[in-house]
Amino acid sequence: MALIVHKYGGTSMGSPERIRSVAKRVAKWARAGHQMVVVPSAMSGETNRLLGLAKEVQPGVIDAAAMRELDMIAATGEQVSVGLLALALQAEGMPAVSYTGWQVPVKTDSSYTKARIESIDDVRVRADLAEGKVVVITGFQGIDEDGSITTLGRGGSDTSAVAVAAAMKAAECLIYTDVDGVYTTDPRVVPEAQRLHTISFEEMLEMASLGSKVLQIRSVEFAGKYRVPLRVLSSFTPWDINIDEEARSGTLITFEEDEKMEQAVVSGIAFNRDEAKFTVVGVPDKPGIAYQILGAVAEANIDVDVIVQNVSHDGRTDFSFTVHRNDYQRTMDLLKNKVVPATGAMQFTGDAKICKVSIVGIGMKSHVGVAAKMFRTLSEEGINIQMITTSEIKTSVVIDEKYMELAVRALHRSFGLDAPEAAASN
Ligand code: ADP
Ligand code: ASP
Ligand code: MG
Repeated sequence: MALIVHKYGGTSMGSPERIRSVAKRVAKWARAGHQMVVVPSAMSGETNRLLGLAKEVQPGVIDAAAMRELDMIAATGEQVSVGLLALALQAEGMPAVSYTGWQVPVKTDSSYTKARIESIDDVRVRADLAEGKVVVITGFQGIDEDGSITTLGRGGSDTSAVAVAAAMKAAECLIYTDVDGVYTTDPRVVPEAQRLHTISFEEMLEMASLGSKVLQIRSVEFAGKYRVPLRVLSSFTPWDINIDEEARSGTLITFEEDEKMEQAVVSGIAFNRDEAKFTVVGVPDKPGIAYQILGAVAEANIDVDVIVQNVSHDGRTDFSFTVHRNDYQRTMDLLKNKVVPATGAMQFTGDAKICKVSIVGIGMKSHVGVAAKMFRTLSEEGINIQMITTSEIKTSVVIDEKYMELAVRALHRSFGLDAPEAAASN
């Protein structure tokens, strides 16, 4: 008998019928003798609907006070889900109880809309499990020191589930979603993408951080820090399939490099259209300039991703960086009102129509020419590269958003990731 955490995403919880199917699957695992903790997301579309309502009521700039209320509103989606799932389990004859984040409690810091989990108290949950109940805990939400409700950022239920699994030392955390595992790239963009049987933790971390939203990055960080065995699998298989077969399906995130079966140089392609690029033109090229620009951005609590400083001409240089697209307007205002006057830059430009495409693979550590092959592939497609950034196991380029799918497909093909017989056999 083991303690297992299941997480079900929005589509998996998308209708009463699907919720009943989730309940049947969970009951199957409980009847097989496992102690079950389940972390569901809000029903699909619900978080968008709630945040849409908030935007209708307050279309202006969201300040700190408003962020608190956004979390208050968005967190309700998960509260409905846990209640419905516990009800469906009870209807299956399976004792079950649901808890919100504040009831557990899942304690977080106070960074509304992107809070970090600090601790999880498992006393109550353990008592219920000992009584033979399935415990259903909200994803996505927690409570801060002042008792305000917080949320963990979009896709945050993955992180809730892994954090619960870590806190309770669960034997495994199974992330059930609407695809049957982690693919070489998003199978909705490239139908030829192949499912990976395993992916190393390091690669998964890069894929998630570079835009593959199949797992929220913080969930992967948690899994790495606490060595939580993590698997991504489909919630759309029939609920009554053989449990051992189900337990082996999907994609396992591994912590040992040599466990990886196929040593491909590039394991996956990630992409992200959530960024915007800024260039501060003609800044005096002198010590401290990067700090003057990026320090001001950091002070405004805006995260910077890619940074490029050009060679200088006549004592002046251009300085480019990217931020999350949600921070586009705030960054614009900041550059205009603060950075340009303080640095004596000539002007600045902003471009929200960019995207970042990345190749990821542990094999890149030991192979040369991988980045060059990426650049050649893009040039053959006539795609101009605006920025480049590399690390040991990834290379990312910033390009015009309109070429994103073309770039992803071309790279997928040129790095030999297309399935031999297209996706049909998957
Ligand atoms: P959930 O609601 O279950 O959390 P998400 O929509 O957050 O589901 O994540 C699953 C989606 O992630 C898939 O439907 C797929 O389109 C997308 N995705 C992006 N990159 C990948 C990838 N490399 N492998 C699998 N799915 C991916
Ligand atoms: N419901 C939240 C969202 O849509 C959290 C999640 O689904 O993981 O982002
Ligand atoms: Mg998700």
